[in-house]
Amino acid sequence: MPQLSDRVNQISESQTIAMARKSRELKAQGVDIISLSLGEPDFPTPQIIKDTAKQAIDENYSYYTHVSGYLELRQAVCEKFKRDNNISHTPDEIVVSTGAKQSIANLVLCLINEGDEVIIPSPYWVSYVELLKLAGGVPVIIETQIESDFKMSPKELEAAITPKTKMIMMSTPCNPTGSVYSKEELKALAEVVIQHNELYILSDEIYEHINFAGGHESFAQFDFIKDRVITINGVSKGFAMTGWRGGIMAAPKWIAEACDKMQGQFTSATSSITQKAIHKAMTLDYETYIKPMRDAFLQRRDLVLKLMKDIPGLKTNVPQGAFYVYPEISSYFGKKYDKYTINSGTDLSMFLLDVAHVALVPGAAFGSDKYIRFSYATSEDNLKEALRRMKEALAKLQ
Ligand code: PMP
Ligand code: GLU
Repeated sequence: MPQLSDRVNQISESQTIAMARKSRELKAQGVDIISLSLGEPDFPTPQIIKDTAKQAIDENYSYYTHVSGYLELRQAVCEKFKRDNNISHTPDEIVVSTGAKQSIANLVLCLINEGDEVIIPSPYWVSYVELLKLAGGVPVIIETQIESDFKMSPKELEAAITPKTKMIMMSTPCNPTGSVYSKEELKALAEVVIQHNELYILSDEIYEHINFAGGHESFAQFDFIKDRVITINGVSKGFAMTGWRGGIMAAPKWIAEACDKMQGQFTSATSSITQKAIHKAMTLDYETYIKPMRDAFLQRRDLVLKLMKDIPGLKTNVPQGAFYVYPEISSYFGKKYDKYTINSGTDLSMFLLDVAHVALVPGAAFGSDKYIRFSYATSEDNLKEALRRMKEALAKLQ
């Protein structure tokens, strides 16, 4: 009997991608699904980036590049980090990949040994734990609460560190909670980390540009911790380029070199055309190209929070970034309608998919199944209709 490897058998399918697949299948069958499952901007990629890529194709920029990305691109990435985040890097500390997801996978495979512990504040992004499992790492989860805006405190971090802790993995702005750590909060966490040798921070900043709190803050801006920080970013969210597959990592040189070696065996590099597109994105005027998208997201967030207030039993924080709302839904537990009984976020998501034809992602994917994640990266009309349907369906649960 053919057998798959234990490695693949121990990981789960990405729940965000699974939910998106399910809603695509239902749509293909003619069901009128509103999909609020996958986190991806609904805006077109800026025309100027598309034109740059077309030109690269026409000019035959068609060949293998340096594994970590061509030199001028990595120089432009360094300029971006200096200009936007006050972090100084050299091109040999930059690895451009096929998406932030690959950057995270590269890093985990290069840094984590069997049995190493990695601290992950929960709620966390769906792929962290699964990628860690592939490397044999042990996730150590710190549960955070709505009341503290889902932020991990320095005390909680300190209490979770053991001699086996190798890394902390977190995102700010956070997927799925939208929480944004302030400069002071990051500094206080960094002050804990620096007390421990061989402890690293994976700082996932992919939502840098979707921040309503006024200004993104990076861990690596503090010189005293910079050698322990791996900053991960990309073009998927801020530039509406999810399908282009462009990720960026800035790290101490020895880590960047290891990731270059790893990536050289896996993908050789991301697409040469994508690299040209990323390069363009690094030099764009954000006020012109990014602010309109961010303003639209903010308007949608406010709309969603307002409409959610009208639906009993959805308890939320006020997300300061990214494009998700993450309501706590445990007041529906024990309630029933027809063949449905709700005992988890998974039950509620299935109920809403079947009865309201609204696709969401259960909180189980992000560490706790008493939540559901709602992406508001879609039109205001879709959001209004989705919330109307949800309100109607949830009222049926008794
Ligand atoms: N980190 C977080 C927090 C995300 O939400 C995502 C989803 N796109 C990624 C990383 C991966 O992004 P990319 O498309 O660049 O692989
Ligand atoms: N990051 C997005 C999300 O959380 C896209 C899906 C994925 O990459 O898993 O929905």
